[in-house]
Order: sequence, then structure tokens, then C-alpha cells
Amino acid sequence: MFFKNIVCPVCGAACDDIQVEIKDEKIEAKNVCKMGISRFKEITSPRRLKQPLLKFGGKLRPVSWDGVLEIAADILASAKRPLIFIGSETSCEAHEVGLMIGEYLGATVDTIVNGATVMGTQEAGKIGATEGQKKNRGDLMVYWGTNPLESMPRQMSRYGVFPRGYWTKRGRFDRTIITVDPRKTLTAKASDLHVQLNPDSDYELISALLTLLHRKTPHHSIEKITGVSIPVMEDMLDMMKNCNFGTISVGVGLSSSLGKYRNIEIAMNLVKELNNYSKITIGVIRSHCNVAGFNQVASYMYGYPFGLDFTRGHPRYNPGEFTTVDLLREKDVDAAFVICADLLSQIPPDCAAYLAEIPLICLDTVPCPTTSISDIVLPGVIDSIECDGTFYRFDDVPIYFEPFLDSPFKFTQSNEDTLKQLFEKIKAKKINLMFYLYSADLKIQNFSSRSQISNSQLSF
Ligand code: SF4
Repeated sequence: MFFKNIVCPVCGAACDDIQVEIKDEKIEAKNVCKMGISRFKEITSPRRLKQPLLKFGGKLRPVSWDGVLEIAADILASAKRPLIFIGSETSCEAHEVGLMIGEYLGATVDTIVNGATVMGTQEAGKIGATEGQKKNRGDLMVYWGTNPLESMPRQMSRYGVFPRGYWTKRGRFDRTIITVDPRKTLTAKASDLHVQLNPDSDYELISALLTLLHRKTPHHSIEKITGVSIPVMEDMLDMMKNCNFGTISVGVGLSSSLGKYRNIEIAMNLVKELNNYSKITIGVIRSHCNVAGFNQVASYMYGYPFGLDFTRGHPRYNPGEFTTVDLLREKDVDAAFVICADLLSQIPPDCAAYLAEIPLICLDTVPCPTTSISDIVLPGVIDSIECDGTFYRFDDVPIYFEPFLDSPFKFTQSNEDTLKQLFEKIKAKKINLMFYLYSADLKIQNFSSRSQISNSQLSF
């Protein structure tokens, strides 16, 4: 069987031109990069999680679906402050249900996100463009702190550099590529200009570019601080001022160097000022699949893009207080539910040690370090391959996908379905708990009113 226009569920590019052929139960995919092919191979991989698991006697053992959902609901409903960590490798529809569970439980809901880029955007505002615009109009591409040839392999071939666009008919020959990176990456080697700045000097370099843009000369010490000479800065600025349509694509190299979200803010301010000379846009290369989706869904549901705290019954947002690493470091959560993410691999050791101490539920498709410390593992359905839904591409364009296979499980059709089933059980547990507390409260009131009567009778 042959399927075409399948959406790849691996990185933020969400390539929607994948072709899949299934022959003798073997899967072959075309138009897919090395990163993507490994995900398609997971469908038939012997590593795939095929049943719900519960830890007892220190080992994860298979159990019934209904039973494991009951226990998971019990853990979450009885926790005082649960953490729901929703990863990017699932659909926006699943994100929505996860957020609703978080609101219902009064939990904190967070995601795998490059928070600094989101916070920088909130500070300065983003002049953005879709990848289609870049393909058709873009004649200058600046990669700042990112190496898409390795982190998002098809970005350059589909949109950024090589394709022939409406106004860029000669493809690569109609485009100038600048890479700003302290390392000599593959992207830097394929560029026309590699600005090899010193590590952690991004803020200073952008400040110097702004100074030059204001027709002033920066202090000569900037050359030593950034490792970039003023003539090179002037060349770079000239290219940006004289292009027809330029794009600066930033990555974690910029947002995680010294300055963090202030680097993103100043980069966005530079783009605003460059627009007095030419059309320049800025975008973020987001390597995780639907990471932009969580920001979109959380923002339209509750007004905040990540790190949402519902403990007071309404959403609150304060990165550094209600974000995963801070909550785990302060031991502020007493249970966790990790959805489609390998959280353990991405947090500092002290946070990982605390995560291993508290009751942990994990939803995933294959075993990973997080599943190994989980008390409950729910098997995941692979979005875009086994169920339909929506991803947001890294340029914030929603892509609806349809599956070419059915869910491999009888008990669930998608991760959204799993979360909906769990939500129903949580609601039932909470109602039972409230009813129990209400009846216990009534009994106490009856008891105390009876004792008051007898006391007053005694006093007469
Ligand atoms: S670039 Fe990303 S979305 Fe496209 S095929 Fe490769 S891994 Fe999949």
C-alpha cells in the first residue's frame, strides 16, 4: 500500500510531503530525513510500548487498561499540587485536554519549550513570516545560534535556502546566507558569511549593529568582546539593509547564551529598526515537533503560553516560579503526569532525583529514561501515523494531519482519547471525594449540634 502527503511527526518543520509504502509489513518512507525515518521505523519496532504498565515490586508489569486508569486518576485526584508536563510529540487536541485536566485539578501545566524565545517575543513583539513567504520572496537568510542542517534537516531544502520561489527562481543562487555562530557548524560551512562571534557575546554584537544602524561607531573594545571586527559588522548590516526580503532565524544558541530572553528582545528590536530600510522578518527554529502548538493552545485557552498555574482556581503565569525545573527544585509538587516527553533527560540532576521520588505517570510510545522511573506507563499512539489531529509548524502555521494506519490499541484511538478517558475517571474520583468530605462534614456538624443541645440541656 502506498500513501502520500503524510505529515512527519518529528521536528518543528512538520514536513507534509512524506510518502510511505507498506510492503510485507515493512515500512519505507520517502522525502523524509534521517531524523524522521527513525520515527516511522518505530511503528513496527519491537521496543514499542504495547500495553499499560504498573510498577510493583520495583518492576513495571502489564495490567488492565481500566485498572491502570483508575490508579492514575487516584494519584492525580488525591495529589495536593500535581504537575502536568505536556510534551510536543502529540497533537494540539491532546494539549487541550491536558490543559483542561490541569485546570480541573488545580495543577501546574508546563511544556517543553524554549521559554526565553517566547518571553523575548512577549517583550518586543515579532515581525514574522511564514516559511512559504521566505521560500517565494526571501533573498537573505540569517541563521543566528542555530544549525538547521542538523537540527531541522529539511528547513533549508524546503523553504530557507535551496528551493526555487516565485521571486527567487534560481534558488540558492538568488539567496545570500549568513550564519552567526561561535561554532563551525555544517550550516556555517554552507553559508556565504560566517560571523564567528565569541560565546555569550550575542547581546553585545546586536547592540553594536544597532549603534552602526544609528550611524554611530561602536567603541573599539567591541571587537575584543565579540571577536568580530567592525568592518565585518558593517558588511553584515549592509547585506541586511539592502536585501529585498530578509529573515533572521534564531535558535537556542541565541536564547540560551548570556542575556537569555533579552537577546531575543534586542534581536526583535533590531529587526524593527531594519524595517526602515528593507523588509526583514524574524522567526524561531523550534526543533521539537508541535512545540509551537502548546503555546498557541494555552494562549487562546488561558492567555499564557507555558508554565500555567491553576492552584488558585484561575490561571497564573510567572516563569521562574511556575515552571517545571523551579517546581521540582523547590519540591513544590507531589505527583507528576508526563505526556509525550522524555522529561527526565532534560532537567538537572536534583530535579530528576525529586521526580523519581514522587508518584509519576507517563504517556509515551517507546521506553525512555522517564518511563523507567514511572509508576504508571500508558502506551501512546503516534500522531499523524495512527491518529488524526493538528500540529503547529515552527512558523506558527497549523497543519492538519490524517493517519495512514489505525491505532494499534483496542482501548484507545489517540492520545487525546486516552486523556479524555482519564479525565472522566478523575472527575468521578473528585466527585466521590467531595461527596465523602461533604458527608463527613455533615456528620461532624450533626455531632457538634447534638452535643450543643445536650450541653444546653445540661445547663438548664
Ligand atoms: S525535517 Fe523534521 S519534519 Fe521534516 S522529515 Fe526531517 S524530521 Fe521530519
